[in-house]
Amino acid sequence: MAVHAHPDDESSKGAATMAKYVREGQEVTVVSCTGGERGDILNPRLKDDAHILRDIAQVRRDEMRAAQEIVGFDHVWLGFVDSGLPEGDPLPPLPAGCFALEPLDVTTEALVRVIREVRPHVLVTYDESGGYPHPDHINTHIVSLAAYAAAGDPDAYPHAGPPWRPPKLYYLRTMTKGRLEALHRLMLERGVESQYGDWLAKWERPDVTITTRVECADYFPIRDQALLAHATQVDPDGSWFHTPMDIQREAWPTEDFELVASLVPLMEGEDDLFAGLESLEAADALAQDLDATLVRDTRPESPDGAVALLRSTAG
Ligand SMILES: [Zn+2]
Repeated sequence: MAVHAHPDDESSKGAATMAKYVREGQEVTVVSCTGGERGDILNPRLKDDAHILRDIAQVRRDEMRAAQEIVGFDHVWLGFVDSGLPEGDPLPPLPAGCFALEPLDVTTEALVRVIREVRPHVLVTYDESGGYPHPDHINTHIVSLAAYAAAGDPDAYPHAGPPWRPPKLYYLRTMTKGRLEALHRLMLERGVESQYGDWLAKWERPDVTITTRVECADYFPIRDQALLAHATQVDPDGSWFHTPMDIQREAWPTEDFELVASLVPLMEGEDDLFAGLESLEAADALAQDLDATLVRDTRPESPDGAVALLRSTAG
């Protein structure tokens, strides 16, 4: 199960991994915390489309359905409203009723309910930076970690289903400096103009840990198709699609993850999110074993850092 902020995030982050697992027979569920109602129309060809302007929420639902069919995952809307990306100086406050302003108990319960119903063995979400300073992305991290902690606790939200603790919790690590450098280097070597130079020169994000590299280059074209299905959210002529596929496959053929909490030990050179979960039955038993202890736990001690970061994104 992958928890994302908006429709399109699932296609730009980890979609090749999901496409691979679906085709290997795993059940994969994407949870979208919000409906993406406040996203900009980033495709210049669709800027003045009357239908899109009239009902962006429905358009985003239709786009999500198309991406879902391309990758093959099951999909759940958590049902909260896009917070938008506050811009300006001073920053404006977040709009009333948006995801990032919902009480944490409410958003956590909604995700706990989905986790206890779908019963995933692996939960994937964003790190405390959100991967990008959008209030919904940071809040997706906060809510995912709260729900991960609560889902296996029989005293938490007892009316929201029987306890279920996903045996493995990962952060997405698909947008790393190492990957962009590898793409940049190979593009220059092959005489292809690189869009990554400026980005790398201004790179300020802290280094991250990668524990797990999932080989999924065969599924990069599916990932791109899924992203293009979010037609209002992506410019098909934009830089995202500029890197030639053969260079992507050669420079960085994996999508990467960090194991942050686990009931089974981290494998050396781990290349599979399900590594260590011996069988479906064993993983089911582990998820319901309330006495099992985490053998790895690198989660932040409290959500305070992420909450402060979330507050800093709005006035
Ligand atoms: Zn997003």
